[in-house]
Amino acid sequence: MDIKRRQFLKIAGLSTIAGLGAPAAFNLLLKGGPDTVSYASSGGEAEASHEAAPTGVRLGMVIDQRVFDANKGLAQKCTTACHTVHNVPNFGNKKDEIKWIFEVPFEKAFTGKSQYHKNKNLEDSSFLVLCNHCDNPPCVRACPTKATFKRKDGIVAMDYHRCIGCRFCMAACPYGMRSFNWRDPRPFIDQKTHNKEFPTRMRGVVEKCNFCVDRLARGQQPACVEACGNTGAMTFGDLNDSHSEIVKLLDNNFTIQRKPSLGTNPSVFYIV
Ligand code: SF4
Ligand code: SF4
Ligand code: SF4
Repeated sequence: MDIKRRQFLKIAGLSTIAGLGAPAAFNLLLKGGPDTVSYASSGGEAEASHEAAPTGVRLGMVIDQRVFDANKGLAQKCTTACHTVHNVPNFGNKKDEIKWIFEVPFEKAFTGKSQYHKNKNLEDSSFLVLCNHCDNPPCVRACPTKATFKRKDGIVAMDYHRCIGCRFCMAACPYGMRSFNWRDPRPFIDQKTHNKEFPTRMRGVVEKCNFCVDRLARGQQPACVEACGNTGAMTFGDLNDSHSEIVKLLDNNFTIQRKPSLGTNPSVFYIV
């Protein structure tokens, strides 16, 4: 088994334990480290404890813009892969659009950076943006129902069943990375590619990139990373593991994050 797959199966174990919407009657107990995490039944109708204790794992992503610049069309491939596996509806208009990952010009991706006399390459580039899975996520603090919550591996996840559609999280996210279903999305999912293993949403619910928690649980890479093949355009892994590929990339390249001055601590980095 190669290292990548081993790493992902390790993450997969954590992902499964952390639960994709873990049953409400269970509270998370952390017993001595990531490999010994267990759940204990609290009995009755206890509230789900979504705010899990950290495990030492913090999942993140590095996007190498140089590779995207050299491979026109690759970013669109990533978007299609993500939106297909997650049954993202296509309403056919901008007003109702649902987006988990999409391309924007440099000045929109990195609003805090000076745009004066910027490098010519940057002017011609478009950058993939997605939820940053912030280490200090304002969307989580804003949510009154814990429908959005930070998992112990750092993923900022959604429990669609708890979402009441108040959109506080959308107002709180300084990156505009959340979409609201103004209409019933189900009739707008392409039936030819409908992924029966991933839940569809309903009108009045917010959605966003989930760092492919479902795929990690099966030992797979995120769909966008997989769509990049061996190009190295996207790398996913544990930011707290000094031996991981992602940390080596961060150690050896100059990277930037979106709006770091806000103190949200994004887990997505860009090599520009
Ligand atoms: S990017 Fe926005 S939606 Fe994602 S974790 Fe940060 S604040 Fe929340
Ligand atoms: S829209 Fe849903 S996820 Fe967002 S703050 Fe309201 S309940 Fe929470
Ligand atoms: S990590 Fe998964 S959910 Fe997030 S943008 Fe990539 S494919 Fe979509």
